[in-house]
Amino acid sequence: MNFQYWNEKIEKMARVDLNALQLQKLKTEIGYALRTSFYKERLIKAGIQSPDDIKTLDDLNKIPFTTKDDLRDGFPYGFLSIPKEEVIRLHASSGTTGIPTTIYFNKDDIKNWADYMARCIYATGSTKEDVFQNMITYGLFTGGLGFHQGGEEVGMLVIPAGAGNTSRQFKMMQDYGTTVLHATPSFLLHLETKMKEAGIARESLHLKRAFAGAEPYSEDTRKRIEALLKVDVYNSYGLSEMNGPGVAFECQCKDGLHIWEDGYIAEIVNPDTLLPVKNGETGELVLTILCREATPILRYRTRDLTSFYTEQCACGRTHRRLKRITGRSDDMLIINGVNVFPSQIEEVIMGMKEVGNNYLIVVEKDGALDKLIVKTEVSEGIFMDDSRSLNAIKERIRETLQASISINPKVELHEKGTLPVSEGKAVRVNDTRPKDV
Ligand code: ADP
Ligand code: ZN
Repeated sequence: MNFQYWNEKIEKMARVDLNALQLQKLKTEIGYALRTSFYKERLIKAGIQSPDDIKTLDDLNKIPFTTKDDLRDGFPYGFLSIPKEEVIRLHASSGTTGIPTTIYFNKDDIKNWADYMARCIYATGSTKEDVFQNMITYGLFTGGLGFHQGGEEVGMLVIPAGAGNTSRQFKMMQDYGTTVLHATPSFLLHLETKMKEAGIARESLHLKRAFAGAEPYSEDTRKRIEALLKVDVYNSYGLSEMNGPGVAFECQCKDGLHIWEDGYIAEIVNPDTLLPVKNGETGELVLTILCREATPILRYRTRDLTSFYTEQCACGRTHRRLKRITGRSDDMLIINGVNVFPSQIEEVIMGMKEVGNNYLIVVEKDGALDKLIVKTEVSEGIFMDDSRSLNAIKERIRETLQASISINPKVELHEKGTLPVSEGKAVRVNDTRPKDV
């Protein structure tokens, strides 16, 4: 394979040099943090009065973790390190569950972010020859503008398509000869259903690859999208607290996501003890940003579960790779005392050929007990009036799930294209149990 690098010197930097760079950038970031009302107090309490109190990367351990609640407590300006007139943009997380977490950027911060994004896009083999249709929500959500700027930085022709409206999306793909897409994996699956409905021949499109992220998905889902749309799918990971997309991305090897270690310090800890896990073990990702001045965030508990690869990637990049994020430590469901992650259910069903491209997990109270209902669409060619074969399919899904998650679910089958599709991140779980129990 012919690998291309946006910034070869940095991407292939030897570990010792990368660590030295991290230390230097961490000190700078601590300087920024000491100018915020939130960290000033915290860092001084932890014995860090100036960047010079950080002597080695291990000194990171002196710094307490930052949580989403801290960010909310600091709303609106507790994490701002520069005068307001220097801020040129803000982004905020959806805020559907309370106070939005707000991140501010100065001019350099925006430039840095665009550069990390360009590095990700370029690592997938994309170039200025490509036409990039960004089919994700623009606005406060970071996925829209983040990819937009990165695509422009690479020099691609960027179409700010936004999310939803599949027939308009197809029209743009045809009119402008789109070669690269960005969307959530659930939207990419939905696109294929709509393509068939609209009678659009795949040959009339020029698609080569798709970036899929913002929500967890399994390897089987990637394979499905690749087979259905005939594109290479690359996993994209990021979160608004760390700018948004551009934190970690797959290279052409499509085997784990390189986390840009000159921009982020990544730790993986046991979510209960908060101690580092052994290299290669799964735990919660904790991130410190090294590439933003206006809103420094140190040791942020992402809640995302992953692990490091222990070997170096065949592409030659030295930045470590993260395993596909399987979910968040806070989205674990407890059903009649048994723990299950939605991603475990997805992994089982997306591997079954009878199952279509969309599913929904419902949890209900059934008397004193919890009931798990897995609703899935059936794949094409399975007819809803053939009750004998439907029952056999249901039974096979139920048995396979039970064997894998030790919970006996009720399985409901739905016709292709009939379960709800969200324009933003997919809503995969509907837990209707009373919250205070
Ligand atoms: P944004 O997508 O704007 O950065 P949020 O900050 O609201 O949005 O969401 C970030 C969260 O989305 C991450 O913490 C993670 O839980 C999830 N996420 C993003 N990308 C991926 C991915 N590729 N795989 C799994 N989960 C992801
Ligand atoms: Zn690689």
